[in-house]
Amino acid sequence: MARVYNFSAGPSMLPEAVLRRAADEMLDYGGSGQSVMEMSHRSKEYGEIIGGCEALLRSTMGIPDNYKVLFLQGGASSQFAMVPLNLRKGGKADFVLTGQWAKKAHSEAKKFLCANVVADSSDKTFSYIPKLDPQKFDPDADYFHICYNNTIYGTRFHALPDTGKVPLVADMSSCILSEPVDVSRFGVIYAGAQKNMGPAGLTVVIIREDLIGNADESVPTMFNYKTHADNDSMYNTPPTYAIYICKLVLEWLRDEMGGLSGMKAQNERKAGMFYDYLDSSALFKGTVDKADRSLMNIPFVTGDEELDKKFVKEAAAAGFVNLKGHRSVGGMRASIYNAMPVEGVIKLIEFMKEFERQNG
Ligand code: PMP
Repeated sequence: MARVYNFSAGPSMLPEAVLRRAADEMLDYGGSGQSVMEMSHRSKEYGEIIGGCEALLRSTMGIPDNYKVLFLQGGASSQFAMVPLNLRKGGKADFVLTGQWAKKAHSEAKKFLCANVVADSSDKTFSYIPKLDPQKFDPDADYFHICYNNTIYGTRFHALPDTGKVPLVADMSSCILSEPVDVSRFGVIYAGAQKNMGPAGLTVVIIREDLIGNADESVPTMFNYKTHADNDSMYNTPPTYAIYICKLVLEWLRDEMGGLSGMKAQNERKAGMFYDYLDSSALFKGTVDKADRSLMNIPFVTGDEELDKKFVKEAAAAGFVNLKGHRSVGGMRASIYNAMPVEGVIKLIEFMKEFERQNG
């Protein structure tokens, strides 16, 4: 069996140990005589899985008691609407536009409230995180939205804005579980699971309790956080198998990676090696401001589109797949989420050095 090194932006690699465990448990989970996929979400066995997943997420991220964890569906994209539908009071919110996902969150929110842009880095193809001027923050906004890590452009916030009493809402789809975060700084954290948490189909929302229960009557039941909070994410059938895999990923993080601080050290090592090589290469160049570089998504180019294509093709043939940049930006992008082993990054760099020798 030849497994490739998959640099996809998501869905992306899962830890091999998790896949093996899921394979072992596929036909008979814990002596139940059935697969987790076949289990009633109301069964005792499944209750332990979802409860265990939540407990592990809470301990891993240090989620305070006054926050709820919701296991939803609809992707991070549905949160672009759910956040304004549930948090709107005065009918205004602030947005930082740092890429396509941030822009989508902003455009969707515009359907429900007055969505103000406090900063925008579109002038340089979102290759940096714009400086924030707190004078422009609306002290009466219902929330302040950021996309913490910009999957397509490879930038991230290295410091959080101080929004005072205004709840900070963060899309953490492409960086959740990559390093410790102080959850108490946020009103809402949301993430599609398909990068660092598990398979697609699960969307995790971590929300401060006082932000639940304020949606008006017209909000559809399934789009109201209260529905899911009151029913422990069991109002309807949750994405049962994805939650099970997420639990296995969290166990792997705890037992094999040393939790979030160990994970951060490994992610810094991987990204550090990659950026060091890009900075020293005469052929490949990183595309974003050094101060704003992501730990998870690393875009780069040769400066010659034909050579980029040749690189992506030859890399795939050598077992380094999904290195093509997002269709909107071109070039290359290596997504090196938690499950990408250090060895995968070392081998990719060796391959790039050889490509540089031959094509430089
Ligand atoms: N936000 C970010 C930062 C993303 O990277 C993505 C998907 N790549 C999304 C939102 C959209 O997520 P979903 O496909 O789960 O709706």
